[in-house]
Amino acid sequence: LQVIAAVEPRVAEATRAELRDQRASLKLIASENYASPAVLLTMGSWFSDKYAEGTVGHRFYAGCQNVDTVEALAAEHARELFGAPYAYAQPHSGIDANLVAFWSILAHRVETPALEKHAVKNVNELSEGDWETLRHELGNQRLLGMSLDAGGHLTHGFRPNISGKMFHQQQYGTDPATGLLDYDAVRAKAKEFRPLVLVAGYSAYPRRVNFAKMREIADEVGATLMVDMAHFAGLVAGKVFTGDEDPVPFAHVTTTTTHKSLRGPRGGLVLAQEEFASSVDRGCPMVLGGPLSHVMAAKAVALAEARQPAFQDYAQQIAGNAKSLAEGFLTRGANLVTSGTDNHIVLLDVSSFGLTGRQAESALLDAGVVTNRNSVPADPNGAWYTSGVRLGTPALTTRGFGHDEFDKVAELIVDVLANTKPGTTKAGGPSKASYVLGDGVADRTKAASAEL
Ligand code: PLP
Repeated sequence: LQVIAAVEPRVAEATRAELRDQRASLKLIASENYASPAVLLTMGSWFSDKYAEGTVGHRFYAGCQNVDTVEALAAEHARELFGAPYAYAQPHSGIDANLVAFWSILAHRVETPALEKHAVKNVNELSEGDWETLRHELGNQRLLGMSLDAGGHLTHGFRPNISGKMFHQQQYGTDPATGLLDYDAVRAKAKEFRPLVLVAGYSAYPRRVNFAKMREIADEVGATLMVDMAHFAGLVAGKVFTGDEDPVPFAHVTTTTTHKSLRGPRGGLVLAQEEFASSVDRGCPMVLGGPLSHVMAAKAVALAEARQPAFQDYAQQIAGNAKSLAEGFLTRGANLVTSGTDNHIVLLDVSSFGLTGRQAESALLDAGVVTNRNSVPADPNGAWYTSGVRLGTPALTTRGFGHDEFDKVAELIVDVLANTKPGTTKAGGPSKASYVLGDGVADRTKAASAEL
């Protein structure tokens, strides 16, 4: 920090403040974690200065021998860890991994057959007319994914995201009575819509998915199954999700982030069956530029960590702690979407406290509890104010929290929410954003969490 402070002291100060804040608060954001010192140090290395467009052993720049080493290592660890035939370590983020997946599915299923039909090797050899026809076909494909309010991600066909613009899209939801995935309803929708891509995976669904069933549905309609395991990759790596709950053997293409439950650097990964490998391998230049070599090196380190037996204990604790947190809420009378959890996520419906998700999130932050507001299924408050707060256990599990600590966390959260009242707008009307925190709640919550 002294080196940074000599150049721009405000960055050094903000960095110090970030460490202080992360240490002083209860980090319950389901997509966050604490990466190890080895991962953090690897990201701050000289690999940051190297360009390496292309792929391992086939670069558009000279001098990439060391990048080749770390990229190949990251891919090897990913293949071994997840039992995948092929792994691609270049995506800069989860969104990039999904873009690589979408375009490699389009390349394999739409572009390659067109090239074969015209007996050419690549798109540059097509006539202007054939190229126009192919461009039209590429832009005329269908994608079916989980809706945002049911727990899907915006890259799964949400209209404001590019995935909802580049595909004709439809969404499947969850059963209105139970909040659970209804595979028959997904099947019926898939049969009617006939998507090229069926996306499974979630950001805010507190339950496991049967990927064998999702693959069956994809096969019945001739779709490619893409699973986005960004959130729960750590539970797959740690063998908490096995058999039908492990997406990798069932999905044609699996994507993930590396920084959530997997506890690595910020970044993405794509895993694929052999059939899709050569398309995914063209992620650069298809949708990516030069890879972040320093981050690929850190992915190799994080994946090596995840291959240690201790990571399986960590993953079991993440899931066990989520159950403890959920029980802590239920015994104190709070409402949870799907009435519980069997992954790392607890989705608290805060409407019974008379609050919106936005008010609950802000009140909790004042008390040193960092969460994010989240829609609940058919949310009356929409995606901005919401009626839910999403909580995840990976970060505090890394800090060593167990059953008793998570029960205490539930107690603290219920105390804060029960002592928060909705505020009013400037004109005196009801507000979905402002709130009034009861006297002393923030201080007593911070004091109690400092003890944990
Ligand atoms: N996919 C899922 C399921 C996610 O939850 C997220 C991030 O929240 C992403 C993709 C995008 O990841 P990133 O923020 O790294 O682009």
